[in-house]
Amino acid sequence: MTRALTPSNLREALSLLGEDPGLVPMAGCTDLMVTDPVERVELPAVLDLTRVRELRGIRRGKEALEIGATTTFSEIGSSADVEELFPALARAARVIGGWQIQNRATLGGNIANASPAGDSLPVLLVLDATLVAASTNGERRIPYTEFHVGYRRTALEPSELIDRVSLPIPVPGSVQAFRKVGTREAQAISKVVVAMLGRVEEGKLADYRLAAGSVAPTPVRLAEVEDSIRGRSVGEETASLAGSLARAAVKPIDDVRSTATYRAFALERVVRRLTLQLI
Ligand SMILES: Cc1cc2nc3c(=O)[nH]c(=O)nc-3n(C[C@H](O)[C@H](O)[C@H](O)COP(=O)(O)OP(=O)(O)OC[C@H]3O[C@@H](n4cnc5c(N)ncnc54)[C@H](O)[C@@H]3O)c2cc1C
Repeated sequence: MTRALTPSNLREALSLLGEDPGLVPMAGCTDLMVTDPVERVELPAVLDLTRVRELRGIRRGKEALEIGATTTFSEIGSSADVEELFPALARAARVIGGWQIQNRATLGGNIANASPAGDSLPVLLVLDATLVAASTNGERRIPYTEFHVGYRRTALEPSELIDRVSLPIPVPGSVQAFRKVGTREAQAISKVVVAMLGRVEEGKLADYRLAAGSVAPTPVRLAEVEDSIRGRSVGEETASLAGSLARAAVKPIDDVRSTATYRAFALERVVRRLTLQLI
């Protein structure tokens, strides 16, 4: 039988994890409870984070918005601050699973689960997020672009918890976009998921950031595409170039949800369409 430890504050949670880094952190449990029944190994002990108040909530500062790890996607999707500052994240939150999942699933769980198809992850990449990890040694700030180090592997140490994510407030005039391609509108894991942030100054792209999921072993920031597109005039030609460069930059795989060919095709189309939103 699985043992559950239920700390009531962050200090207690970190100290329990420090004493036993084999404890499995548990938030909404929407990933932990649905592991493959064949391969499922019983978890020896879980660290239930749901009563740790410090890990939950959205706080707006002058330069950044911080979202606690156990904040649910329902809370993120209905936050006026997130909608105003980070509409791409609000949109992603509202298409993760269905309402029931959004009421339980947390941002920290989506990040730590580290699925290449995790819908919030490309958004965090284009928003230049910083992940704040906590342990008994204090806090460690990790640029989100350095967090996903391999297929379902992250930069988090076993003695660390994800404490929060810090999102720098974008320069006024920045446009954000998010698109997920799945089998259905709801309750569908992405075949391809794309996030973009762009800003136009005097007809040219002063900023252009692009990230995608489900097209590589980790969610990816498409830095080479960004470098080729930044500085160009906005318009059909640039949008089409962005799409074809994105397609050339990834090597998706065939799996139960889609084929490599469809993923590459869909990525090109979606990148083109999102980039057209900058006109
Ligand atoms: C029906 C269904 C539909 C779904 N649809 C989608 C979808 O459309 N898009 C999508 O991206 N995902 C989807 N998911 C996956 C899942 O809901 C998300 O990944 C969710 O965000 C996980 O959060 P959680 O709080 O439930 O994590 P949990 O299941 O509690 O934990 C997941 C992992 O994160 C670790 N963890 C949790 N919190 C922390 C923390 N603070 N610090 C360190 N480690 C931590 C846990 O140890 C575990 O390894 C779906 C799942 C189901 C069951």
